[in-house]
Amino acid sequence: EQEGKQAISSIKAASRDTLIKEHPAWVSFYDEQSQDWRHILVLGAKALGDIFLSLLKMVTIPLIVTSLISGITGLGSSSQFGRMFGRTLLYYLCTSVLAITTGLIMVNLIQPGVGAILPGGGEIVAGENESLAGVFLGLVDKLIPTNIVEALANADFLSIIFFSILFGIFTIYAGGKTAEFITKMANSGFEVMMRMTMGIIHLAPLGVLAFMYYATATQGLDIFITLSWYMLAVFMALLFHAAVVLPLILKFVAKTSPLAFAKAMSPALMTAFSTASSNATLPLTITSVEQRGKVSNKVSSFVLPLGATINMDGTALYEAVAVLFIAQATPGIDLIIMDQILVAVTALLASVGAAGIPHAGLVMMAIVLQAVGLPLEAQGIIIAVDRVLDMCRTTVNVWSDSCGCAVIDRFESGTTGSTDEVLIAGEG
Ligand code: ASP
Repeated sequence: EQEGKQAISSIKAASRDTLIKEHPAWVSFYDEQSQDWRHILVLGAKALGDIFLSLLKMVTIPLIVTSLISGITGLGSSSQFGRMFGRTLLYYLCTSVLAITTGLIMVNLIQPGVGAILPGGGEIVAGENESLAGVFLGLVDKLIPTNIVEALANADFLSIIFFSILFGIFTIYAGGKTAEFITKMANSGFEVMMRMTMGIIHLAPLGVLAFMYYATATQGLDIFITLSWYMLAVFMALLFHAAVVLPLILKFVAKTSPLAFAKAMSPALMTAFSTASSNATLPLTITSVEQRGKVSNKVSSFVLPLGATINMDGTALYEAVAVLFIAQATPGIDLIIMDQILVAVTALLASVGAAGIPHAGLVMMAIVLQAVGLPLEAQGIIIAVDRVLDMCRTTVNVWSDSCGCAVIDRFESGTTGSTDEVLIAGEG
């Protein structure tokens, strides 16, 4: 009997080893403690969650490409517009960088991922410590594709973003019928991709439930203690950016009372919080900024639609915190300062590429994870708490766009030009 038992367990072990060798992903289905496969329900939950993740991955590239090209070609050109465009981009860039810095400081202080074990995130070999020049060359290498088809096939996000931005800019230069044609195509493509993404995002509750079930079944309730530190890091960083950094900009650059302006923006901020979508909030943001915040239509109709797509301070901050959290929780990974700079740059790009719809930041996180060599599967567990973080970061996204209006309006109102000129129709 003893021999028989031994034989069975060695057959089991051999079949497990073969299966895991052929399908490494199966390793998480084997429970070392009981030396058996996990319960079918746990496997089902994992499979369901993975389907949701795969669907998100599926839409990422076409969404980035169409969103960027349609956003850039929609800008058009004119000299007055050029000046406002420059200032607006400067504001977007500065606030996003400040947000990311706040996020990085907070996650390094709180260290929510240290000691946490994330399901799905296997042990990976740490990259060599790189010099600044190395990081720069690496970034250039990742940014400029030598073969765009290869970049698309390999899902090299940075290369794809770089190419799409150039494509958009040169479409504007081409002008005439060509630009009209490309713009129409990009807009239509973007609309379809948005609809497809929103369709998939309808499945989010199911995906979230599946991941929660899988996480608690495999990790026990401890996982939520781990995640609570992670959530705290995101909350604190968002709060600091929204309640300290942006009000200081309002006070000293826009010369506006932050409290009064926040009160004026409250309908939009509350809608952003409840819908978790900058796009859905856009009509309200425009109305609140113009009617309650007394910002000119010329400014708001340009700054807000563009901001809803490319200025996402909350999302940028969230990307940085989430990826560092995953890195802290992944054995063998230690992101040194150079890697964190890479996280910052890619988080910025990810926030620019993210659409203003719920969970878009989650879709874009792949860019940041890939840049520092972390497994995309590591996202699995943080999906469980994404919605509530999404509500908070979207509010910060909308708040930053609104503050941007106040800042740009202060400079624009002092300049000549027809104030009624509407550069871009503020459409949701
Ligand atoms: N939901 C966010 C927004 O609409 C984007 C994100 O997921 O971070 O602004």
